[in-house]
Amino acid sequence: MSTRPNLSLDGLLAELAELARISEGEPPVVTRVVFSEADLRARAYVKGLCTAAGLTVREDAIGNTFAHWQGREPELAPVGTGSHIDAIPNAGSYDGTVGVLGGLEAIRVLRQLGFTPRRSIELVIFTAEEPTRFGIGCLGSRMMASVLIPAQALALRDKEGRGLEELRAQAGFNGALESVALAGGHYYKFVELHIEQGPLLEQEGIDLGLVTAIAAPASLRIQIEGEGGHAGGKLMPGRKDALTASAELILALESAAKSTGAIDTVATVGVCEVFPGAVNSIPSRVRLETDIRDIDGARRDRVLENLKAACADVANRRGVAVATELVNADPPASCDEEILAVMEASAKEAGRSYKRMVSRAYHDSLFVARIAPVAMLFIPCRGGVSHRPDEYASPKWVGAGVHVLARTLARLAS
Ligand SMILES: [Zn+2]
Repeated sequence: MSTRPNLSLDGLLAELAELARISEGEPPVVTRVVFSEADLRARAYVKGLCTAAGLTVREDAIGNTFAHWQGREPELAPVGTGSHIDAIPNAGSYDGTVGVLGGLEAIRVLRQLGFTPRRSIELVIFTAEEPTRFGIGCLGSRMMASVLIPAQALALRDKEGRGLEELRAQAGFNGALESVALAGGHYYKFVELHIEQGPLLEQEGIDLGLVTAIAAPASLRIQIEGEGGHAGGKLMPGRKDALTASAELILALESAAKSTGAIDTVATVGVCEVFPGAVNSIPSRVRLETDIRDIDGARRDRVLENLKAACADVANRRGVAVATELVNADPPASCDEEILAVMEASAKEAGRSYKRMVSRAYHDSLFVARIAPVAMLFIPCRGGVSHRPDEYASPKWVGAGVHVLARTLARLAS
């Protein structure tokens, strides 16, 4: 690795653009929901690129895809890299895809340079990082790490009520779901390249973020049952308005998150469904979906407990029924100091600026951390914008990420 990697940046950018065109939406909109026709076409495209690069491709029972470059000592645990290619409705071209096609490009560069890894290097494309279809994020990596067991997976349904079993079979993925789980130590190290999805790197003019911790997400679903009625006929005393009760809960969550005093605590109510949803009808039922995150799991759980206490209090005072369901509450992940040191040395060697930072968004690496030491490498994205069609990472940023990833993989696999 004495020479500068011969990065074929134009080729990679063309592949990112080609992948973005495989979408259920009109360009520049990228929509690729897991197991949809667009998802399957995108998988076929990426698998074709991996095979053309000389990698051996395997898929597991949930559709996680592994492109393997065998090392000189294949009995050693491989070095892993990768991300996801599914995209939420109305998304952009870089979330996840930079880690997949950028990871592939890093491997191609190393092969072109005649590098022969001691450990095998494996590119992983995780199934359904986005929660769009089944309401739970990181389906593939969760199952890989046995955080979601097959019985729980089989209970998942999409909005049309179609089960995971039916949908994966239709997408061509069969076999026992038990076989998706990988043993601890399966990967020697795992590195995920990703866009920051926040504004800090761009604002500070820094090429790369070396991620030291990934925040822990929790989600509580709340259903409030009140009493409906005519908006004119039913007088204010004695109303059991489910939406005004919900308003108290939304504000209680905001105040609980602010009260920790920590910049890393964030909480959001992103879904509020009102029934019956008519202007002249008192809301009888509301469903809220909440998202609470922190890099400190205990602090995050205190916010969650405050929210549950607010639910009990509001139910009591307003005479409504409040039911809660914990959708997920995952622990945070600390990144591996050895990988961070290797990324740091690689960034220096490549002449790229970097800073250590935390990831407030969660990623497949949060779950891979259960079975392997992980770290993430962030590149800037314009305005911090992500999950929108105008999501953008400049060729310079993408190039820096791939360059440093290639050097990192080479060092880890040597
Ligand atoms: Zn992502």
